[in-house]
Amino acid sequence: MVICKLCQKHFIDETTFLNLFVFHDLCEQCRKTYKPKILFEKIPIDFGLIHYTYLFEDCSLNTHYEDYLSPYLSMIYERLLDVQGQYDLFIYLDDDMFYKVNEFTCFLNDYQDIFIFTLARKEVIYQWLL
Ligand SMILES: [Zn+2]
Repeated sequence: MVICKLCQKHFIDETTFLNLFVFHDLCEQCRKTYKPKILFEKIPIDFGLIHYTYLFEDCSLNTHYEDYLSPYLSMIYERLLDVQGQYDLFIYLDDDMFYKVNEFTCFLNDYQDIFIFTLARKEVIYQWLL
């Protein structure tokens, strides 16, 4: 019996010949739900485009989940290396920045191609359009 590091529920990690040396620290449900995948949206702004990238659809990850899942951001960091010359500005949108978005949106008008990334999707569009 193992305790899932995300949902804290007990689960049985069945050992078979195929997974003899694989030790899961997440239950099957969490492994399915929080399987990281690079997702993106393109958001048109006045004179340019925001390329918004995130790993999880769930908008409401609590701090415990964010701490556990944040190492997966390395997937986006690797992507950043490939696209670093294509964008004018890169922004990691954490919770602090997300709630202060109105304070820095005026600076975004100076850039055309902006790459914004987060761990989980946030309602960026509505923050910008209001
Ligand atoms: Zn779980």
